[in-house]
Amino acid sequence: ETVLELSGVIRRFQQAGNVLEVLRGAACAVRRGEIVALVGPSGAGKSTLLHIAGLLEHADGGVIRIAGRDAATLDDAGRTALRRETIGFVYQFHHLLPEFSAEENIVLPQMIAGVPKAAARERAKELLSLVGLAARASHRPARLSGGEQQRVAIARALANRPSLLIADEPTGNLDHHTADDVFALLTDLVRGSGTGPGGRKDGFGALVATHNLDLAARMDRVIELRDGVLVET
Ligand code: ADP
Ligand code: ADP
Repeated sequence: ETVLELSGVIRRFQQAGNVLEVLRGAACAVRRGEIVALVGPSGAGKSTLLHIAGLLEHADGGVIRIAGRDAATLDDAGRTALRRETIGFVYQFHHLLPEFSAEENIVLPQMIAGVPKAAARERAKELLSLVGLAARASHRPARLSGGEQQRVAIARALANRPSLLIADEPTGNLDHHTADDVFALLTDLVRGSGTGPGGRKDGFGALVATHNLDLAARMDRVIELRDGVLVET
């Protein structure tokens, strides 16, 4: 089942009186249980594409379908609701709330989504075990290593059982060895998501922008953003 479908996506920016067409008919699909790498040179439009796929930014044309639902037909409130129900985000920097523990950082987005506190805590504990951090539940982000912080960010992204995980350089701020570990965890979670507590029963798919071509080559597929279109490599 396809969790992200883009077709004919167009995005233009006005820059100093010129029109810069960053996306010129970009198309791709990500299925449940699949981790897909998004590569391309700096400035190619990877972040723009992820923002559009994540319903954070409007496209100027094209089709964006998340978990089978057409985002183009929705108003802003509908897009926000669809985003909250179906998409989890991981960024290069963890963006954890510094004054809250690892567990609380995973509880909060669930409570915002209306999950009762006891159930949210239960799931936070489950997710922390899944990312190997059960023993660090009560630590604040500053007391965790960079790799641990990113593991918490991944657990938080999965808290609301997304169909689609969008990650922009999730290991870009980590040393080589730690990046490998975090990447292996992410890959296991996506591929194993059909059965475990990491996602809904039917799993989630991931689109991961990275500059690390070694990591990209270990994903299920690699798509390159080149001159505004996506090319499978
Ligand atoms: P639009 O009106 O096309 O939707 P945005 O609202 O996304 O544009 O951005 C508003 C303005 O912010 C842009 O016109 C641009 O000047 C500036 N801007 C934001 N992000 C960038 C960036 N990554 N590179 C260059 N300019 C940017
Ligand atoms: P990447 O993530 O691949 O480095 P981006 O998506 O950040 O690329 O940017 C692609 C191009 O679009 C860049 O030339 C950038 O300056 C431009 N751009 C991105 N956002 C805006 C914006 N809001 N307004 C104007 N130009 C933008």
